Amino acid sequence: MRKYDCIFFDRDGTINHDPGYISKLKDFIFFEFTISALKLLVSITNKFIIITNQSGVSRGLIKENDLLRINDFIMNELKINKLPLLKIYYCTDHPDHATDRRKPGSGMFLDAARDYNIDLSNCLMIGDSISDIQPANNLGMDSMLVLTGNGKNHHSRFSKDNEPTYVSQNILTGAKLLAQ
Ligand SMILES: [Mg+2]
Repeated sequence: MRKYDCIFFDRDGTINHDPGYISKLKDFIFFEFTISALKLLVSITNKFIIITNQSGVSRGLIKENDLLRINDFIMNELKINKLPLLKIYYCTDHPDHATDRRKPGSGMFLDAARDYNIDLSNCLMIGDSISDIQPANNLGMDSMLVLTGNGKNHHSRFSKDNEPTYVSQNILTGAKLLAQ
């Protein structure tokens, strides 16, 4: 069983349902298996970080204050369950003028590595999109594509030299695979 310095997670489509541009807390719904999955994953890491693109803010579809309320809710739910979520990094850049912070850029991962002294070569990223897997591969991390959210669509679109380390139906089956 491989242990990781930190496991990074995408948000929408990975740990929660993705109806597109979640602008209100009431529309944020964890998958029913997410907390169970995260509880398994603490056997292979003691650090969780969420890395999420939220261009809805720059598109005028999400108010940053509402995004922060959702972040607080997530932080609190994980805390209640004694899960070691350190921080939620989010990028509000519009894709038409994105900085390197917006995935597939590496910026938010590099920020996290600096802030928490994380060895990225010993980390895992779990996400449902090509843009989650690409920065993980670029940074020498392991990567897991889950087939929830965009995952099914994106699964067939990886180029040979940029494939995820693991593919799993969802975050719970993935956690069982890793923590077995
Ligand atoms: Mg996603």
